[in-house]
Formats: sequence, C-alpha cells, structure tokens
Amino acid sequence: MKAQTITLVGSGLAGPLLAIELKKRGFDVRLYERRPDMRKVRMSAGKSINLALSTRGIHALRAAGAWEEMRKIIIPMRGRMMHSVTGELSFMPYGKDETEVINSISRAELNIALMNAAEERGVAIHFNQRCTGYDHRTGAVRLRDEETGKTATVKSEVVIGTDGAASAIRAAMLHAPRFNYAQSYLEYGYKELTIPAGPKGEHQIETNALHIWPRGSFMLIALPNIDGTFACILFLPFEGANSFAELDTDAKVGAFFEKQFPDARRLMPQLIENYNANPVGAMVTIKCAPWQQEGKALLLGDAAHAIVPFFGQGLNCAFEDCTVLLELLDRMGPEWRRLFAEFERARKANTDAIADMAIENFVEMRDKVADPRFLFRKKAELALEAKYPGTFVPKYAMVTFHRVPYAVARERGRIQDRMLTELCDGIERVEDLDWKKAEELVRRELIPLREV
Ligand SMILES: Cc1cc2nc3c(=O)[nH]c(=O)nc-3n(C[C@H](O)[C@H](O)[C@H](O)COP(=O)(O)OP(=O)(O)OC[C@H]3O[C@@H](n4cnc5c(N)ncnc54)[C@H](O)[C@@H]3O)c2cc1C
Repeated sequence: MKAQTITLVGSGLAGPLLAIELKKRGFDVRLYERRPDMRKVRMSAGKSINLALSTRGIHALRAAGAWEEMRKIIIPMRGRMMHSVTGELSFMPYGKDETEVINSISRAELNIALMNAAEERGVAIHFNQRCTGYDHRTGAVRLRDEETGKTATVKSEVVIGTDGAASAIRAAMLHAPRFNYAQSYLEYGYKELTIPAGPKGEHQIETNALHIWPRGSFMLIALPNIDGTFACILFLPFEGANSFAELDTDAKVGAFFEKQFPDARRLMPQLIENYNANPVGAMVTIKCAPWQQEGKALLLGDAAHAIVPFFGQGLNCAFEDCTVLLELLDRMGPEWRRLFAEFERARKANTDAIADMAIENFVEMRDKVADPRFLFRKKAELALEAKYPGTFVPKYAMVTFHRVPYAVARERGRIQDRMLTELCDGIERVEDLDWKKAEELVRRELIPLREV
C-alpha cells in the first residue's frame, strides 16, 4: 500500500525530530524550510543562541534515538551563578543533586544534528522554500523558492505546521471561522552577545552554571558552549530607563556595561562590535485554538503556542508535543481528525500553563534571585523536598526534571507556595522551620507526584 504523505512546514527544532519519528512509522515525510541549509551557509543572527535542554526534551530525543549524538554537544549546568554589581558570586543549585541539571546546547548545533539524523533516516529536506499559504479545502501548501522566486504547490494527506512563532500555517488558519488567537509581546527585547574563550580555549567563568547578572528591571545571562565561549543574552526594556533605546551610542553601551556588569565587561573585548552587529529580538506569547483543521492540518511547537524563554521550556515543550502526538498516533492509528482533536485536548491546558509560568519566571530571574527573602524560601523549599522526596517537589523541578503535565506543576506549585509562605513567615533560618506544621500541611495538601 502506498504510504500516506505528510508535509511538515519548518525545519527548526520540532520539524526534523517529528520527521524522524513519522518516517520510522512508515509515512512519506517531506520537510520544507524557508531558510537556506545552515550546514552550507553562514549562520544568521538569532541562531547563535544557546538553549537549556531538560528532561522533557531529552525524553523525546531518546525515543527518536538521537540523544546519544546530542550528548556530545551539551554542557550540564548545575545551577544559577549570580553575579552582583561588585563581582560577588553566589550559586543556587537547580536541583536536589547532581542528577538534576539542565543542559546548555547551541541551537544551531542541535538543529544541524537533528537535520543530519532526519536525512540519514531518509527524510528529504527542501531548503529556501517559504510557505506562503495553505488551503485546507484542497490540502495544498503554497511555496516560494527564496532564491529563484519560483512558486509551487504541494499536496499531501496531512500538513503539520512546525514553522515557529511566525507560522504561515497558523496565518492561513486565521481565516477559519471561530479561530481564537491572542498574541502578547513583552516590553522587553533581547540581544545576543559573546564571552570569548580564554587563551587556551578554556571557559573564563565557571563552566557548569547558567550565569545571571540580575539587576531588578533588566539582566544579562550567559550559557556555556563546548568551544570555551559563552553565549550571552542581554534582556532590557525596549524604552525608558536602562533600555535599548537609551543605549544609542558606543560610549553609552560601554559605560552601561562598566557600571552594571563590570566583571562581564572585562571578559568582553568585542562588546561594542557584538552589540552593533546583533539585532534586538522581541519576545511574544501566542495562544490560539483550534490547532487543527478537519484532520488535515495541525499546528505544533511554537506555531501553536509560542512562549517567552524564561523557563527554558519552549524547545522542551515543542519536543513534548512530539512525544504526545506520537503516543496518540501509536494508540489510535492515523485517524487524523480524532487524533488531532485528542492531541489538542491533551496539550492545550498544559501549554497555556507553561506560557504563564514562563512570564512568572521572568520576574523571578530578573528581580527576585537577588532578594535574600526569596533565597531563604528557596532553601526552605529544598529542605522540604529533602524531607518529603517525591511529594514536595519544587515547581522548577516539576517543570524541568519531571514530565508531570505542566498544568499539574503549576497547580501544585501554587499550593506549595502558600505552604512556604505559612512556614517561612517570621523566621530567617531553615533550622527554625516548624516541622510539625510542615508535616500537617504536606499530608493535607499533597499526594506523591507519581500518583498524579
Ligand atoms: C532568546 C531565546 C532563548 C530561548 N531559550 C530557550 C531555552 O533555554 N530552552 C528552551 O526549551 N527553549 C528556549 N527558547 C525557545 C525555543 O527556541 C523554541 O521554543 C523552539 O525553537 C521551538 O521550536 P519549533 O520547531 O516550534 O520552532 P523553531 O525552532 O522556531 O523552528 C521554526 C522553523 O520554521 C521555519 N519557518 C518559519 N516560517 C516558515 C515558512 N513560512 N515557510 C517555511 N519555513 C518556515 C523557520 O525558519 C524555522 O527553521 C528560546 C527562545 C528564544 C527566542
């Protein structure tokens, strides 16, 4: 029997991973990507960012047989290293022990490794093919060759939009009756910068950490690369005090870094060149529904639910979409309409939850990580986790090191937050926690995570 054809639009991170898995299941998979092949053409700005890969993403990579390859290009980060203005360092572990780490990976390297793996398994990737429209009545995807300007249409049984936050497939769905759509931009932008490697190719600051320079209304972060460099991201408001708009001369950029991030500044000899070369990116949350049209087209990953990057979950969530879709496919078979509806039912509340938690985490990273009260609560949280392992699990850990549904993590996180407020009020040392009260609260409010 002829294999069903599936067209995937967008060969970013979710596209090639899903292609590998669909190919494995016998479908004829075609992947169309608007950019040139990044293995042949110099990387454009915006692609040198590093991402934090964690449990949900790793699970999907393992299932696809691609994790061992990725292990060669990751650097585990054990916690956040905070840099004060005067250069003092303080370290806050992400998890309870060495097994709970997040992994720094270059977006470009990951993308390349996934595309290589997809091609090795027989997936054809067509580059420079921008999707310009989709017609669900005919199933036709319209494409324009970015080099020659030639247009074409391709038809297939199923189309999946893995074309990211600015999805063309989603844009086509906007015309469908009763399609819900909301987008909300942060008033903050981001810019990529670099800390080069030291003279012997070594990291110039602690390798196994995500570095943060939190400054209240703005921040700088740095993630390690395997070549000894750090990929940095500067987050500033677009307008107003300490904003991108304010830093409109080289002198102002230099002075701003000297004042706010003096220890990082000393390690960034190319700061001004980097600053001028790289654009300011915007960050958006997108929620929409339905994600499918009559079992013929589906949105997945950022195309269905773009989120801001502050929980380090966009990629992990997009990969988890693949896991859930494939589990349903294996269970239900290619009854696409029912399958897509079930997929959306299983995922929507969870992707909405991580979108909201990512916004909340923005405030935490920028503002609270330098607050002694917040740091004390974090210590108390770890003490409670040690006492009630598997039951009192910090929200960050549930999202990052477990695969419980995001909506459950958010709900349990809220309950635990209230418990922490009750237990930490009026005390300043973990030794003074009222363990009898803690026992009562835990027994009353939480069941073990594995029973969820
Ligand atoms: C600054 C920043 C930091 C981040 N940090 C993290 C992190 O630490 N951890 C994490 O998990 N996530 C992070 N993310 C989020 C993560 O990058 C995304 O969630 C993830 O890339 C989504 O994967 P995707 O495949 O859905 O979309 P993308 O990776 O964006 O891929 C979409 C692909 O579709 C192509 N495309 C777009 N339009 C068309 C078209 N019309 N025709 C054909 N092709 C098209 C694009 O060129 C691209 O290749 C971060 C994002 C940003 C911006």
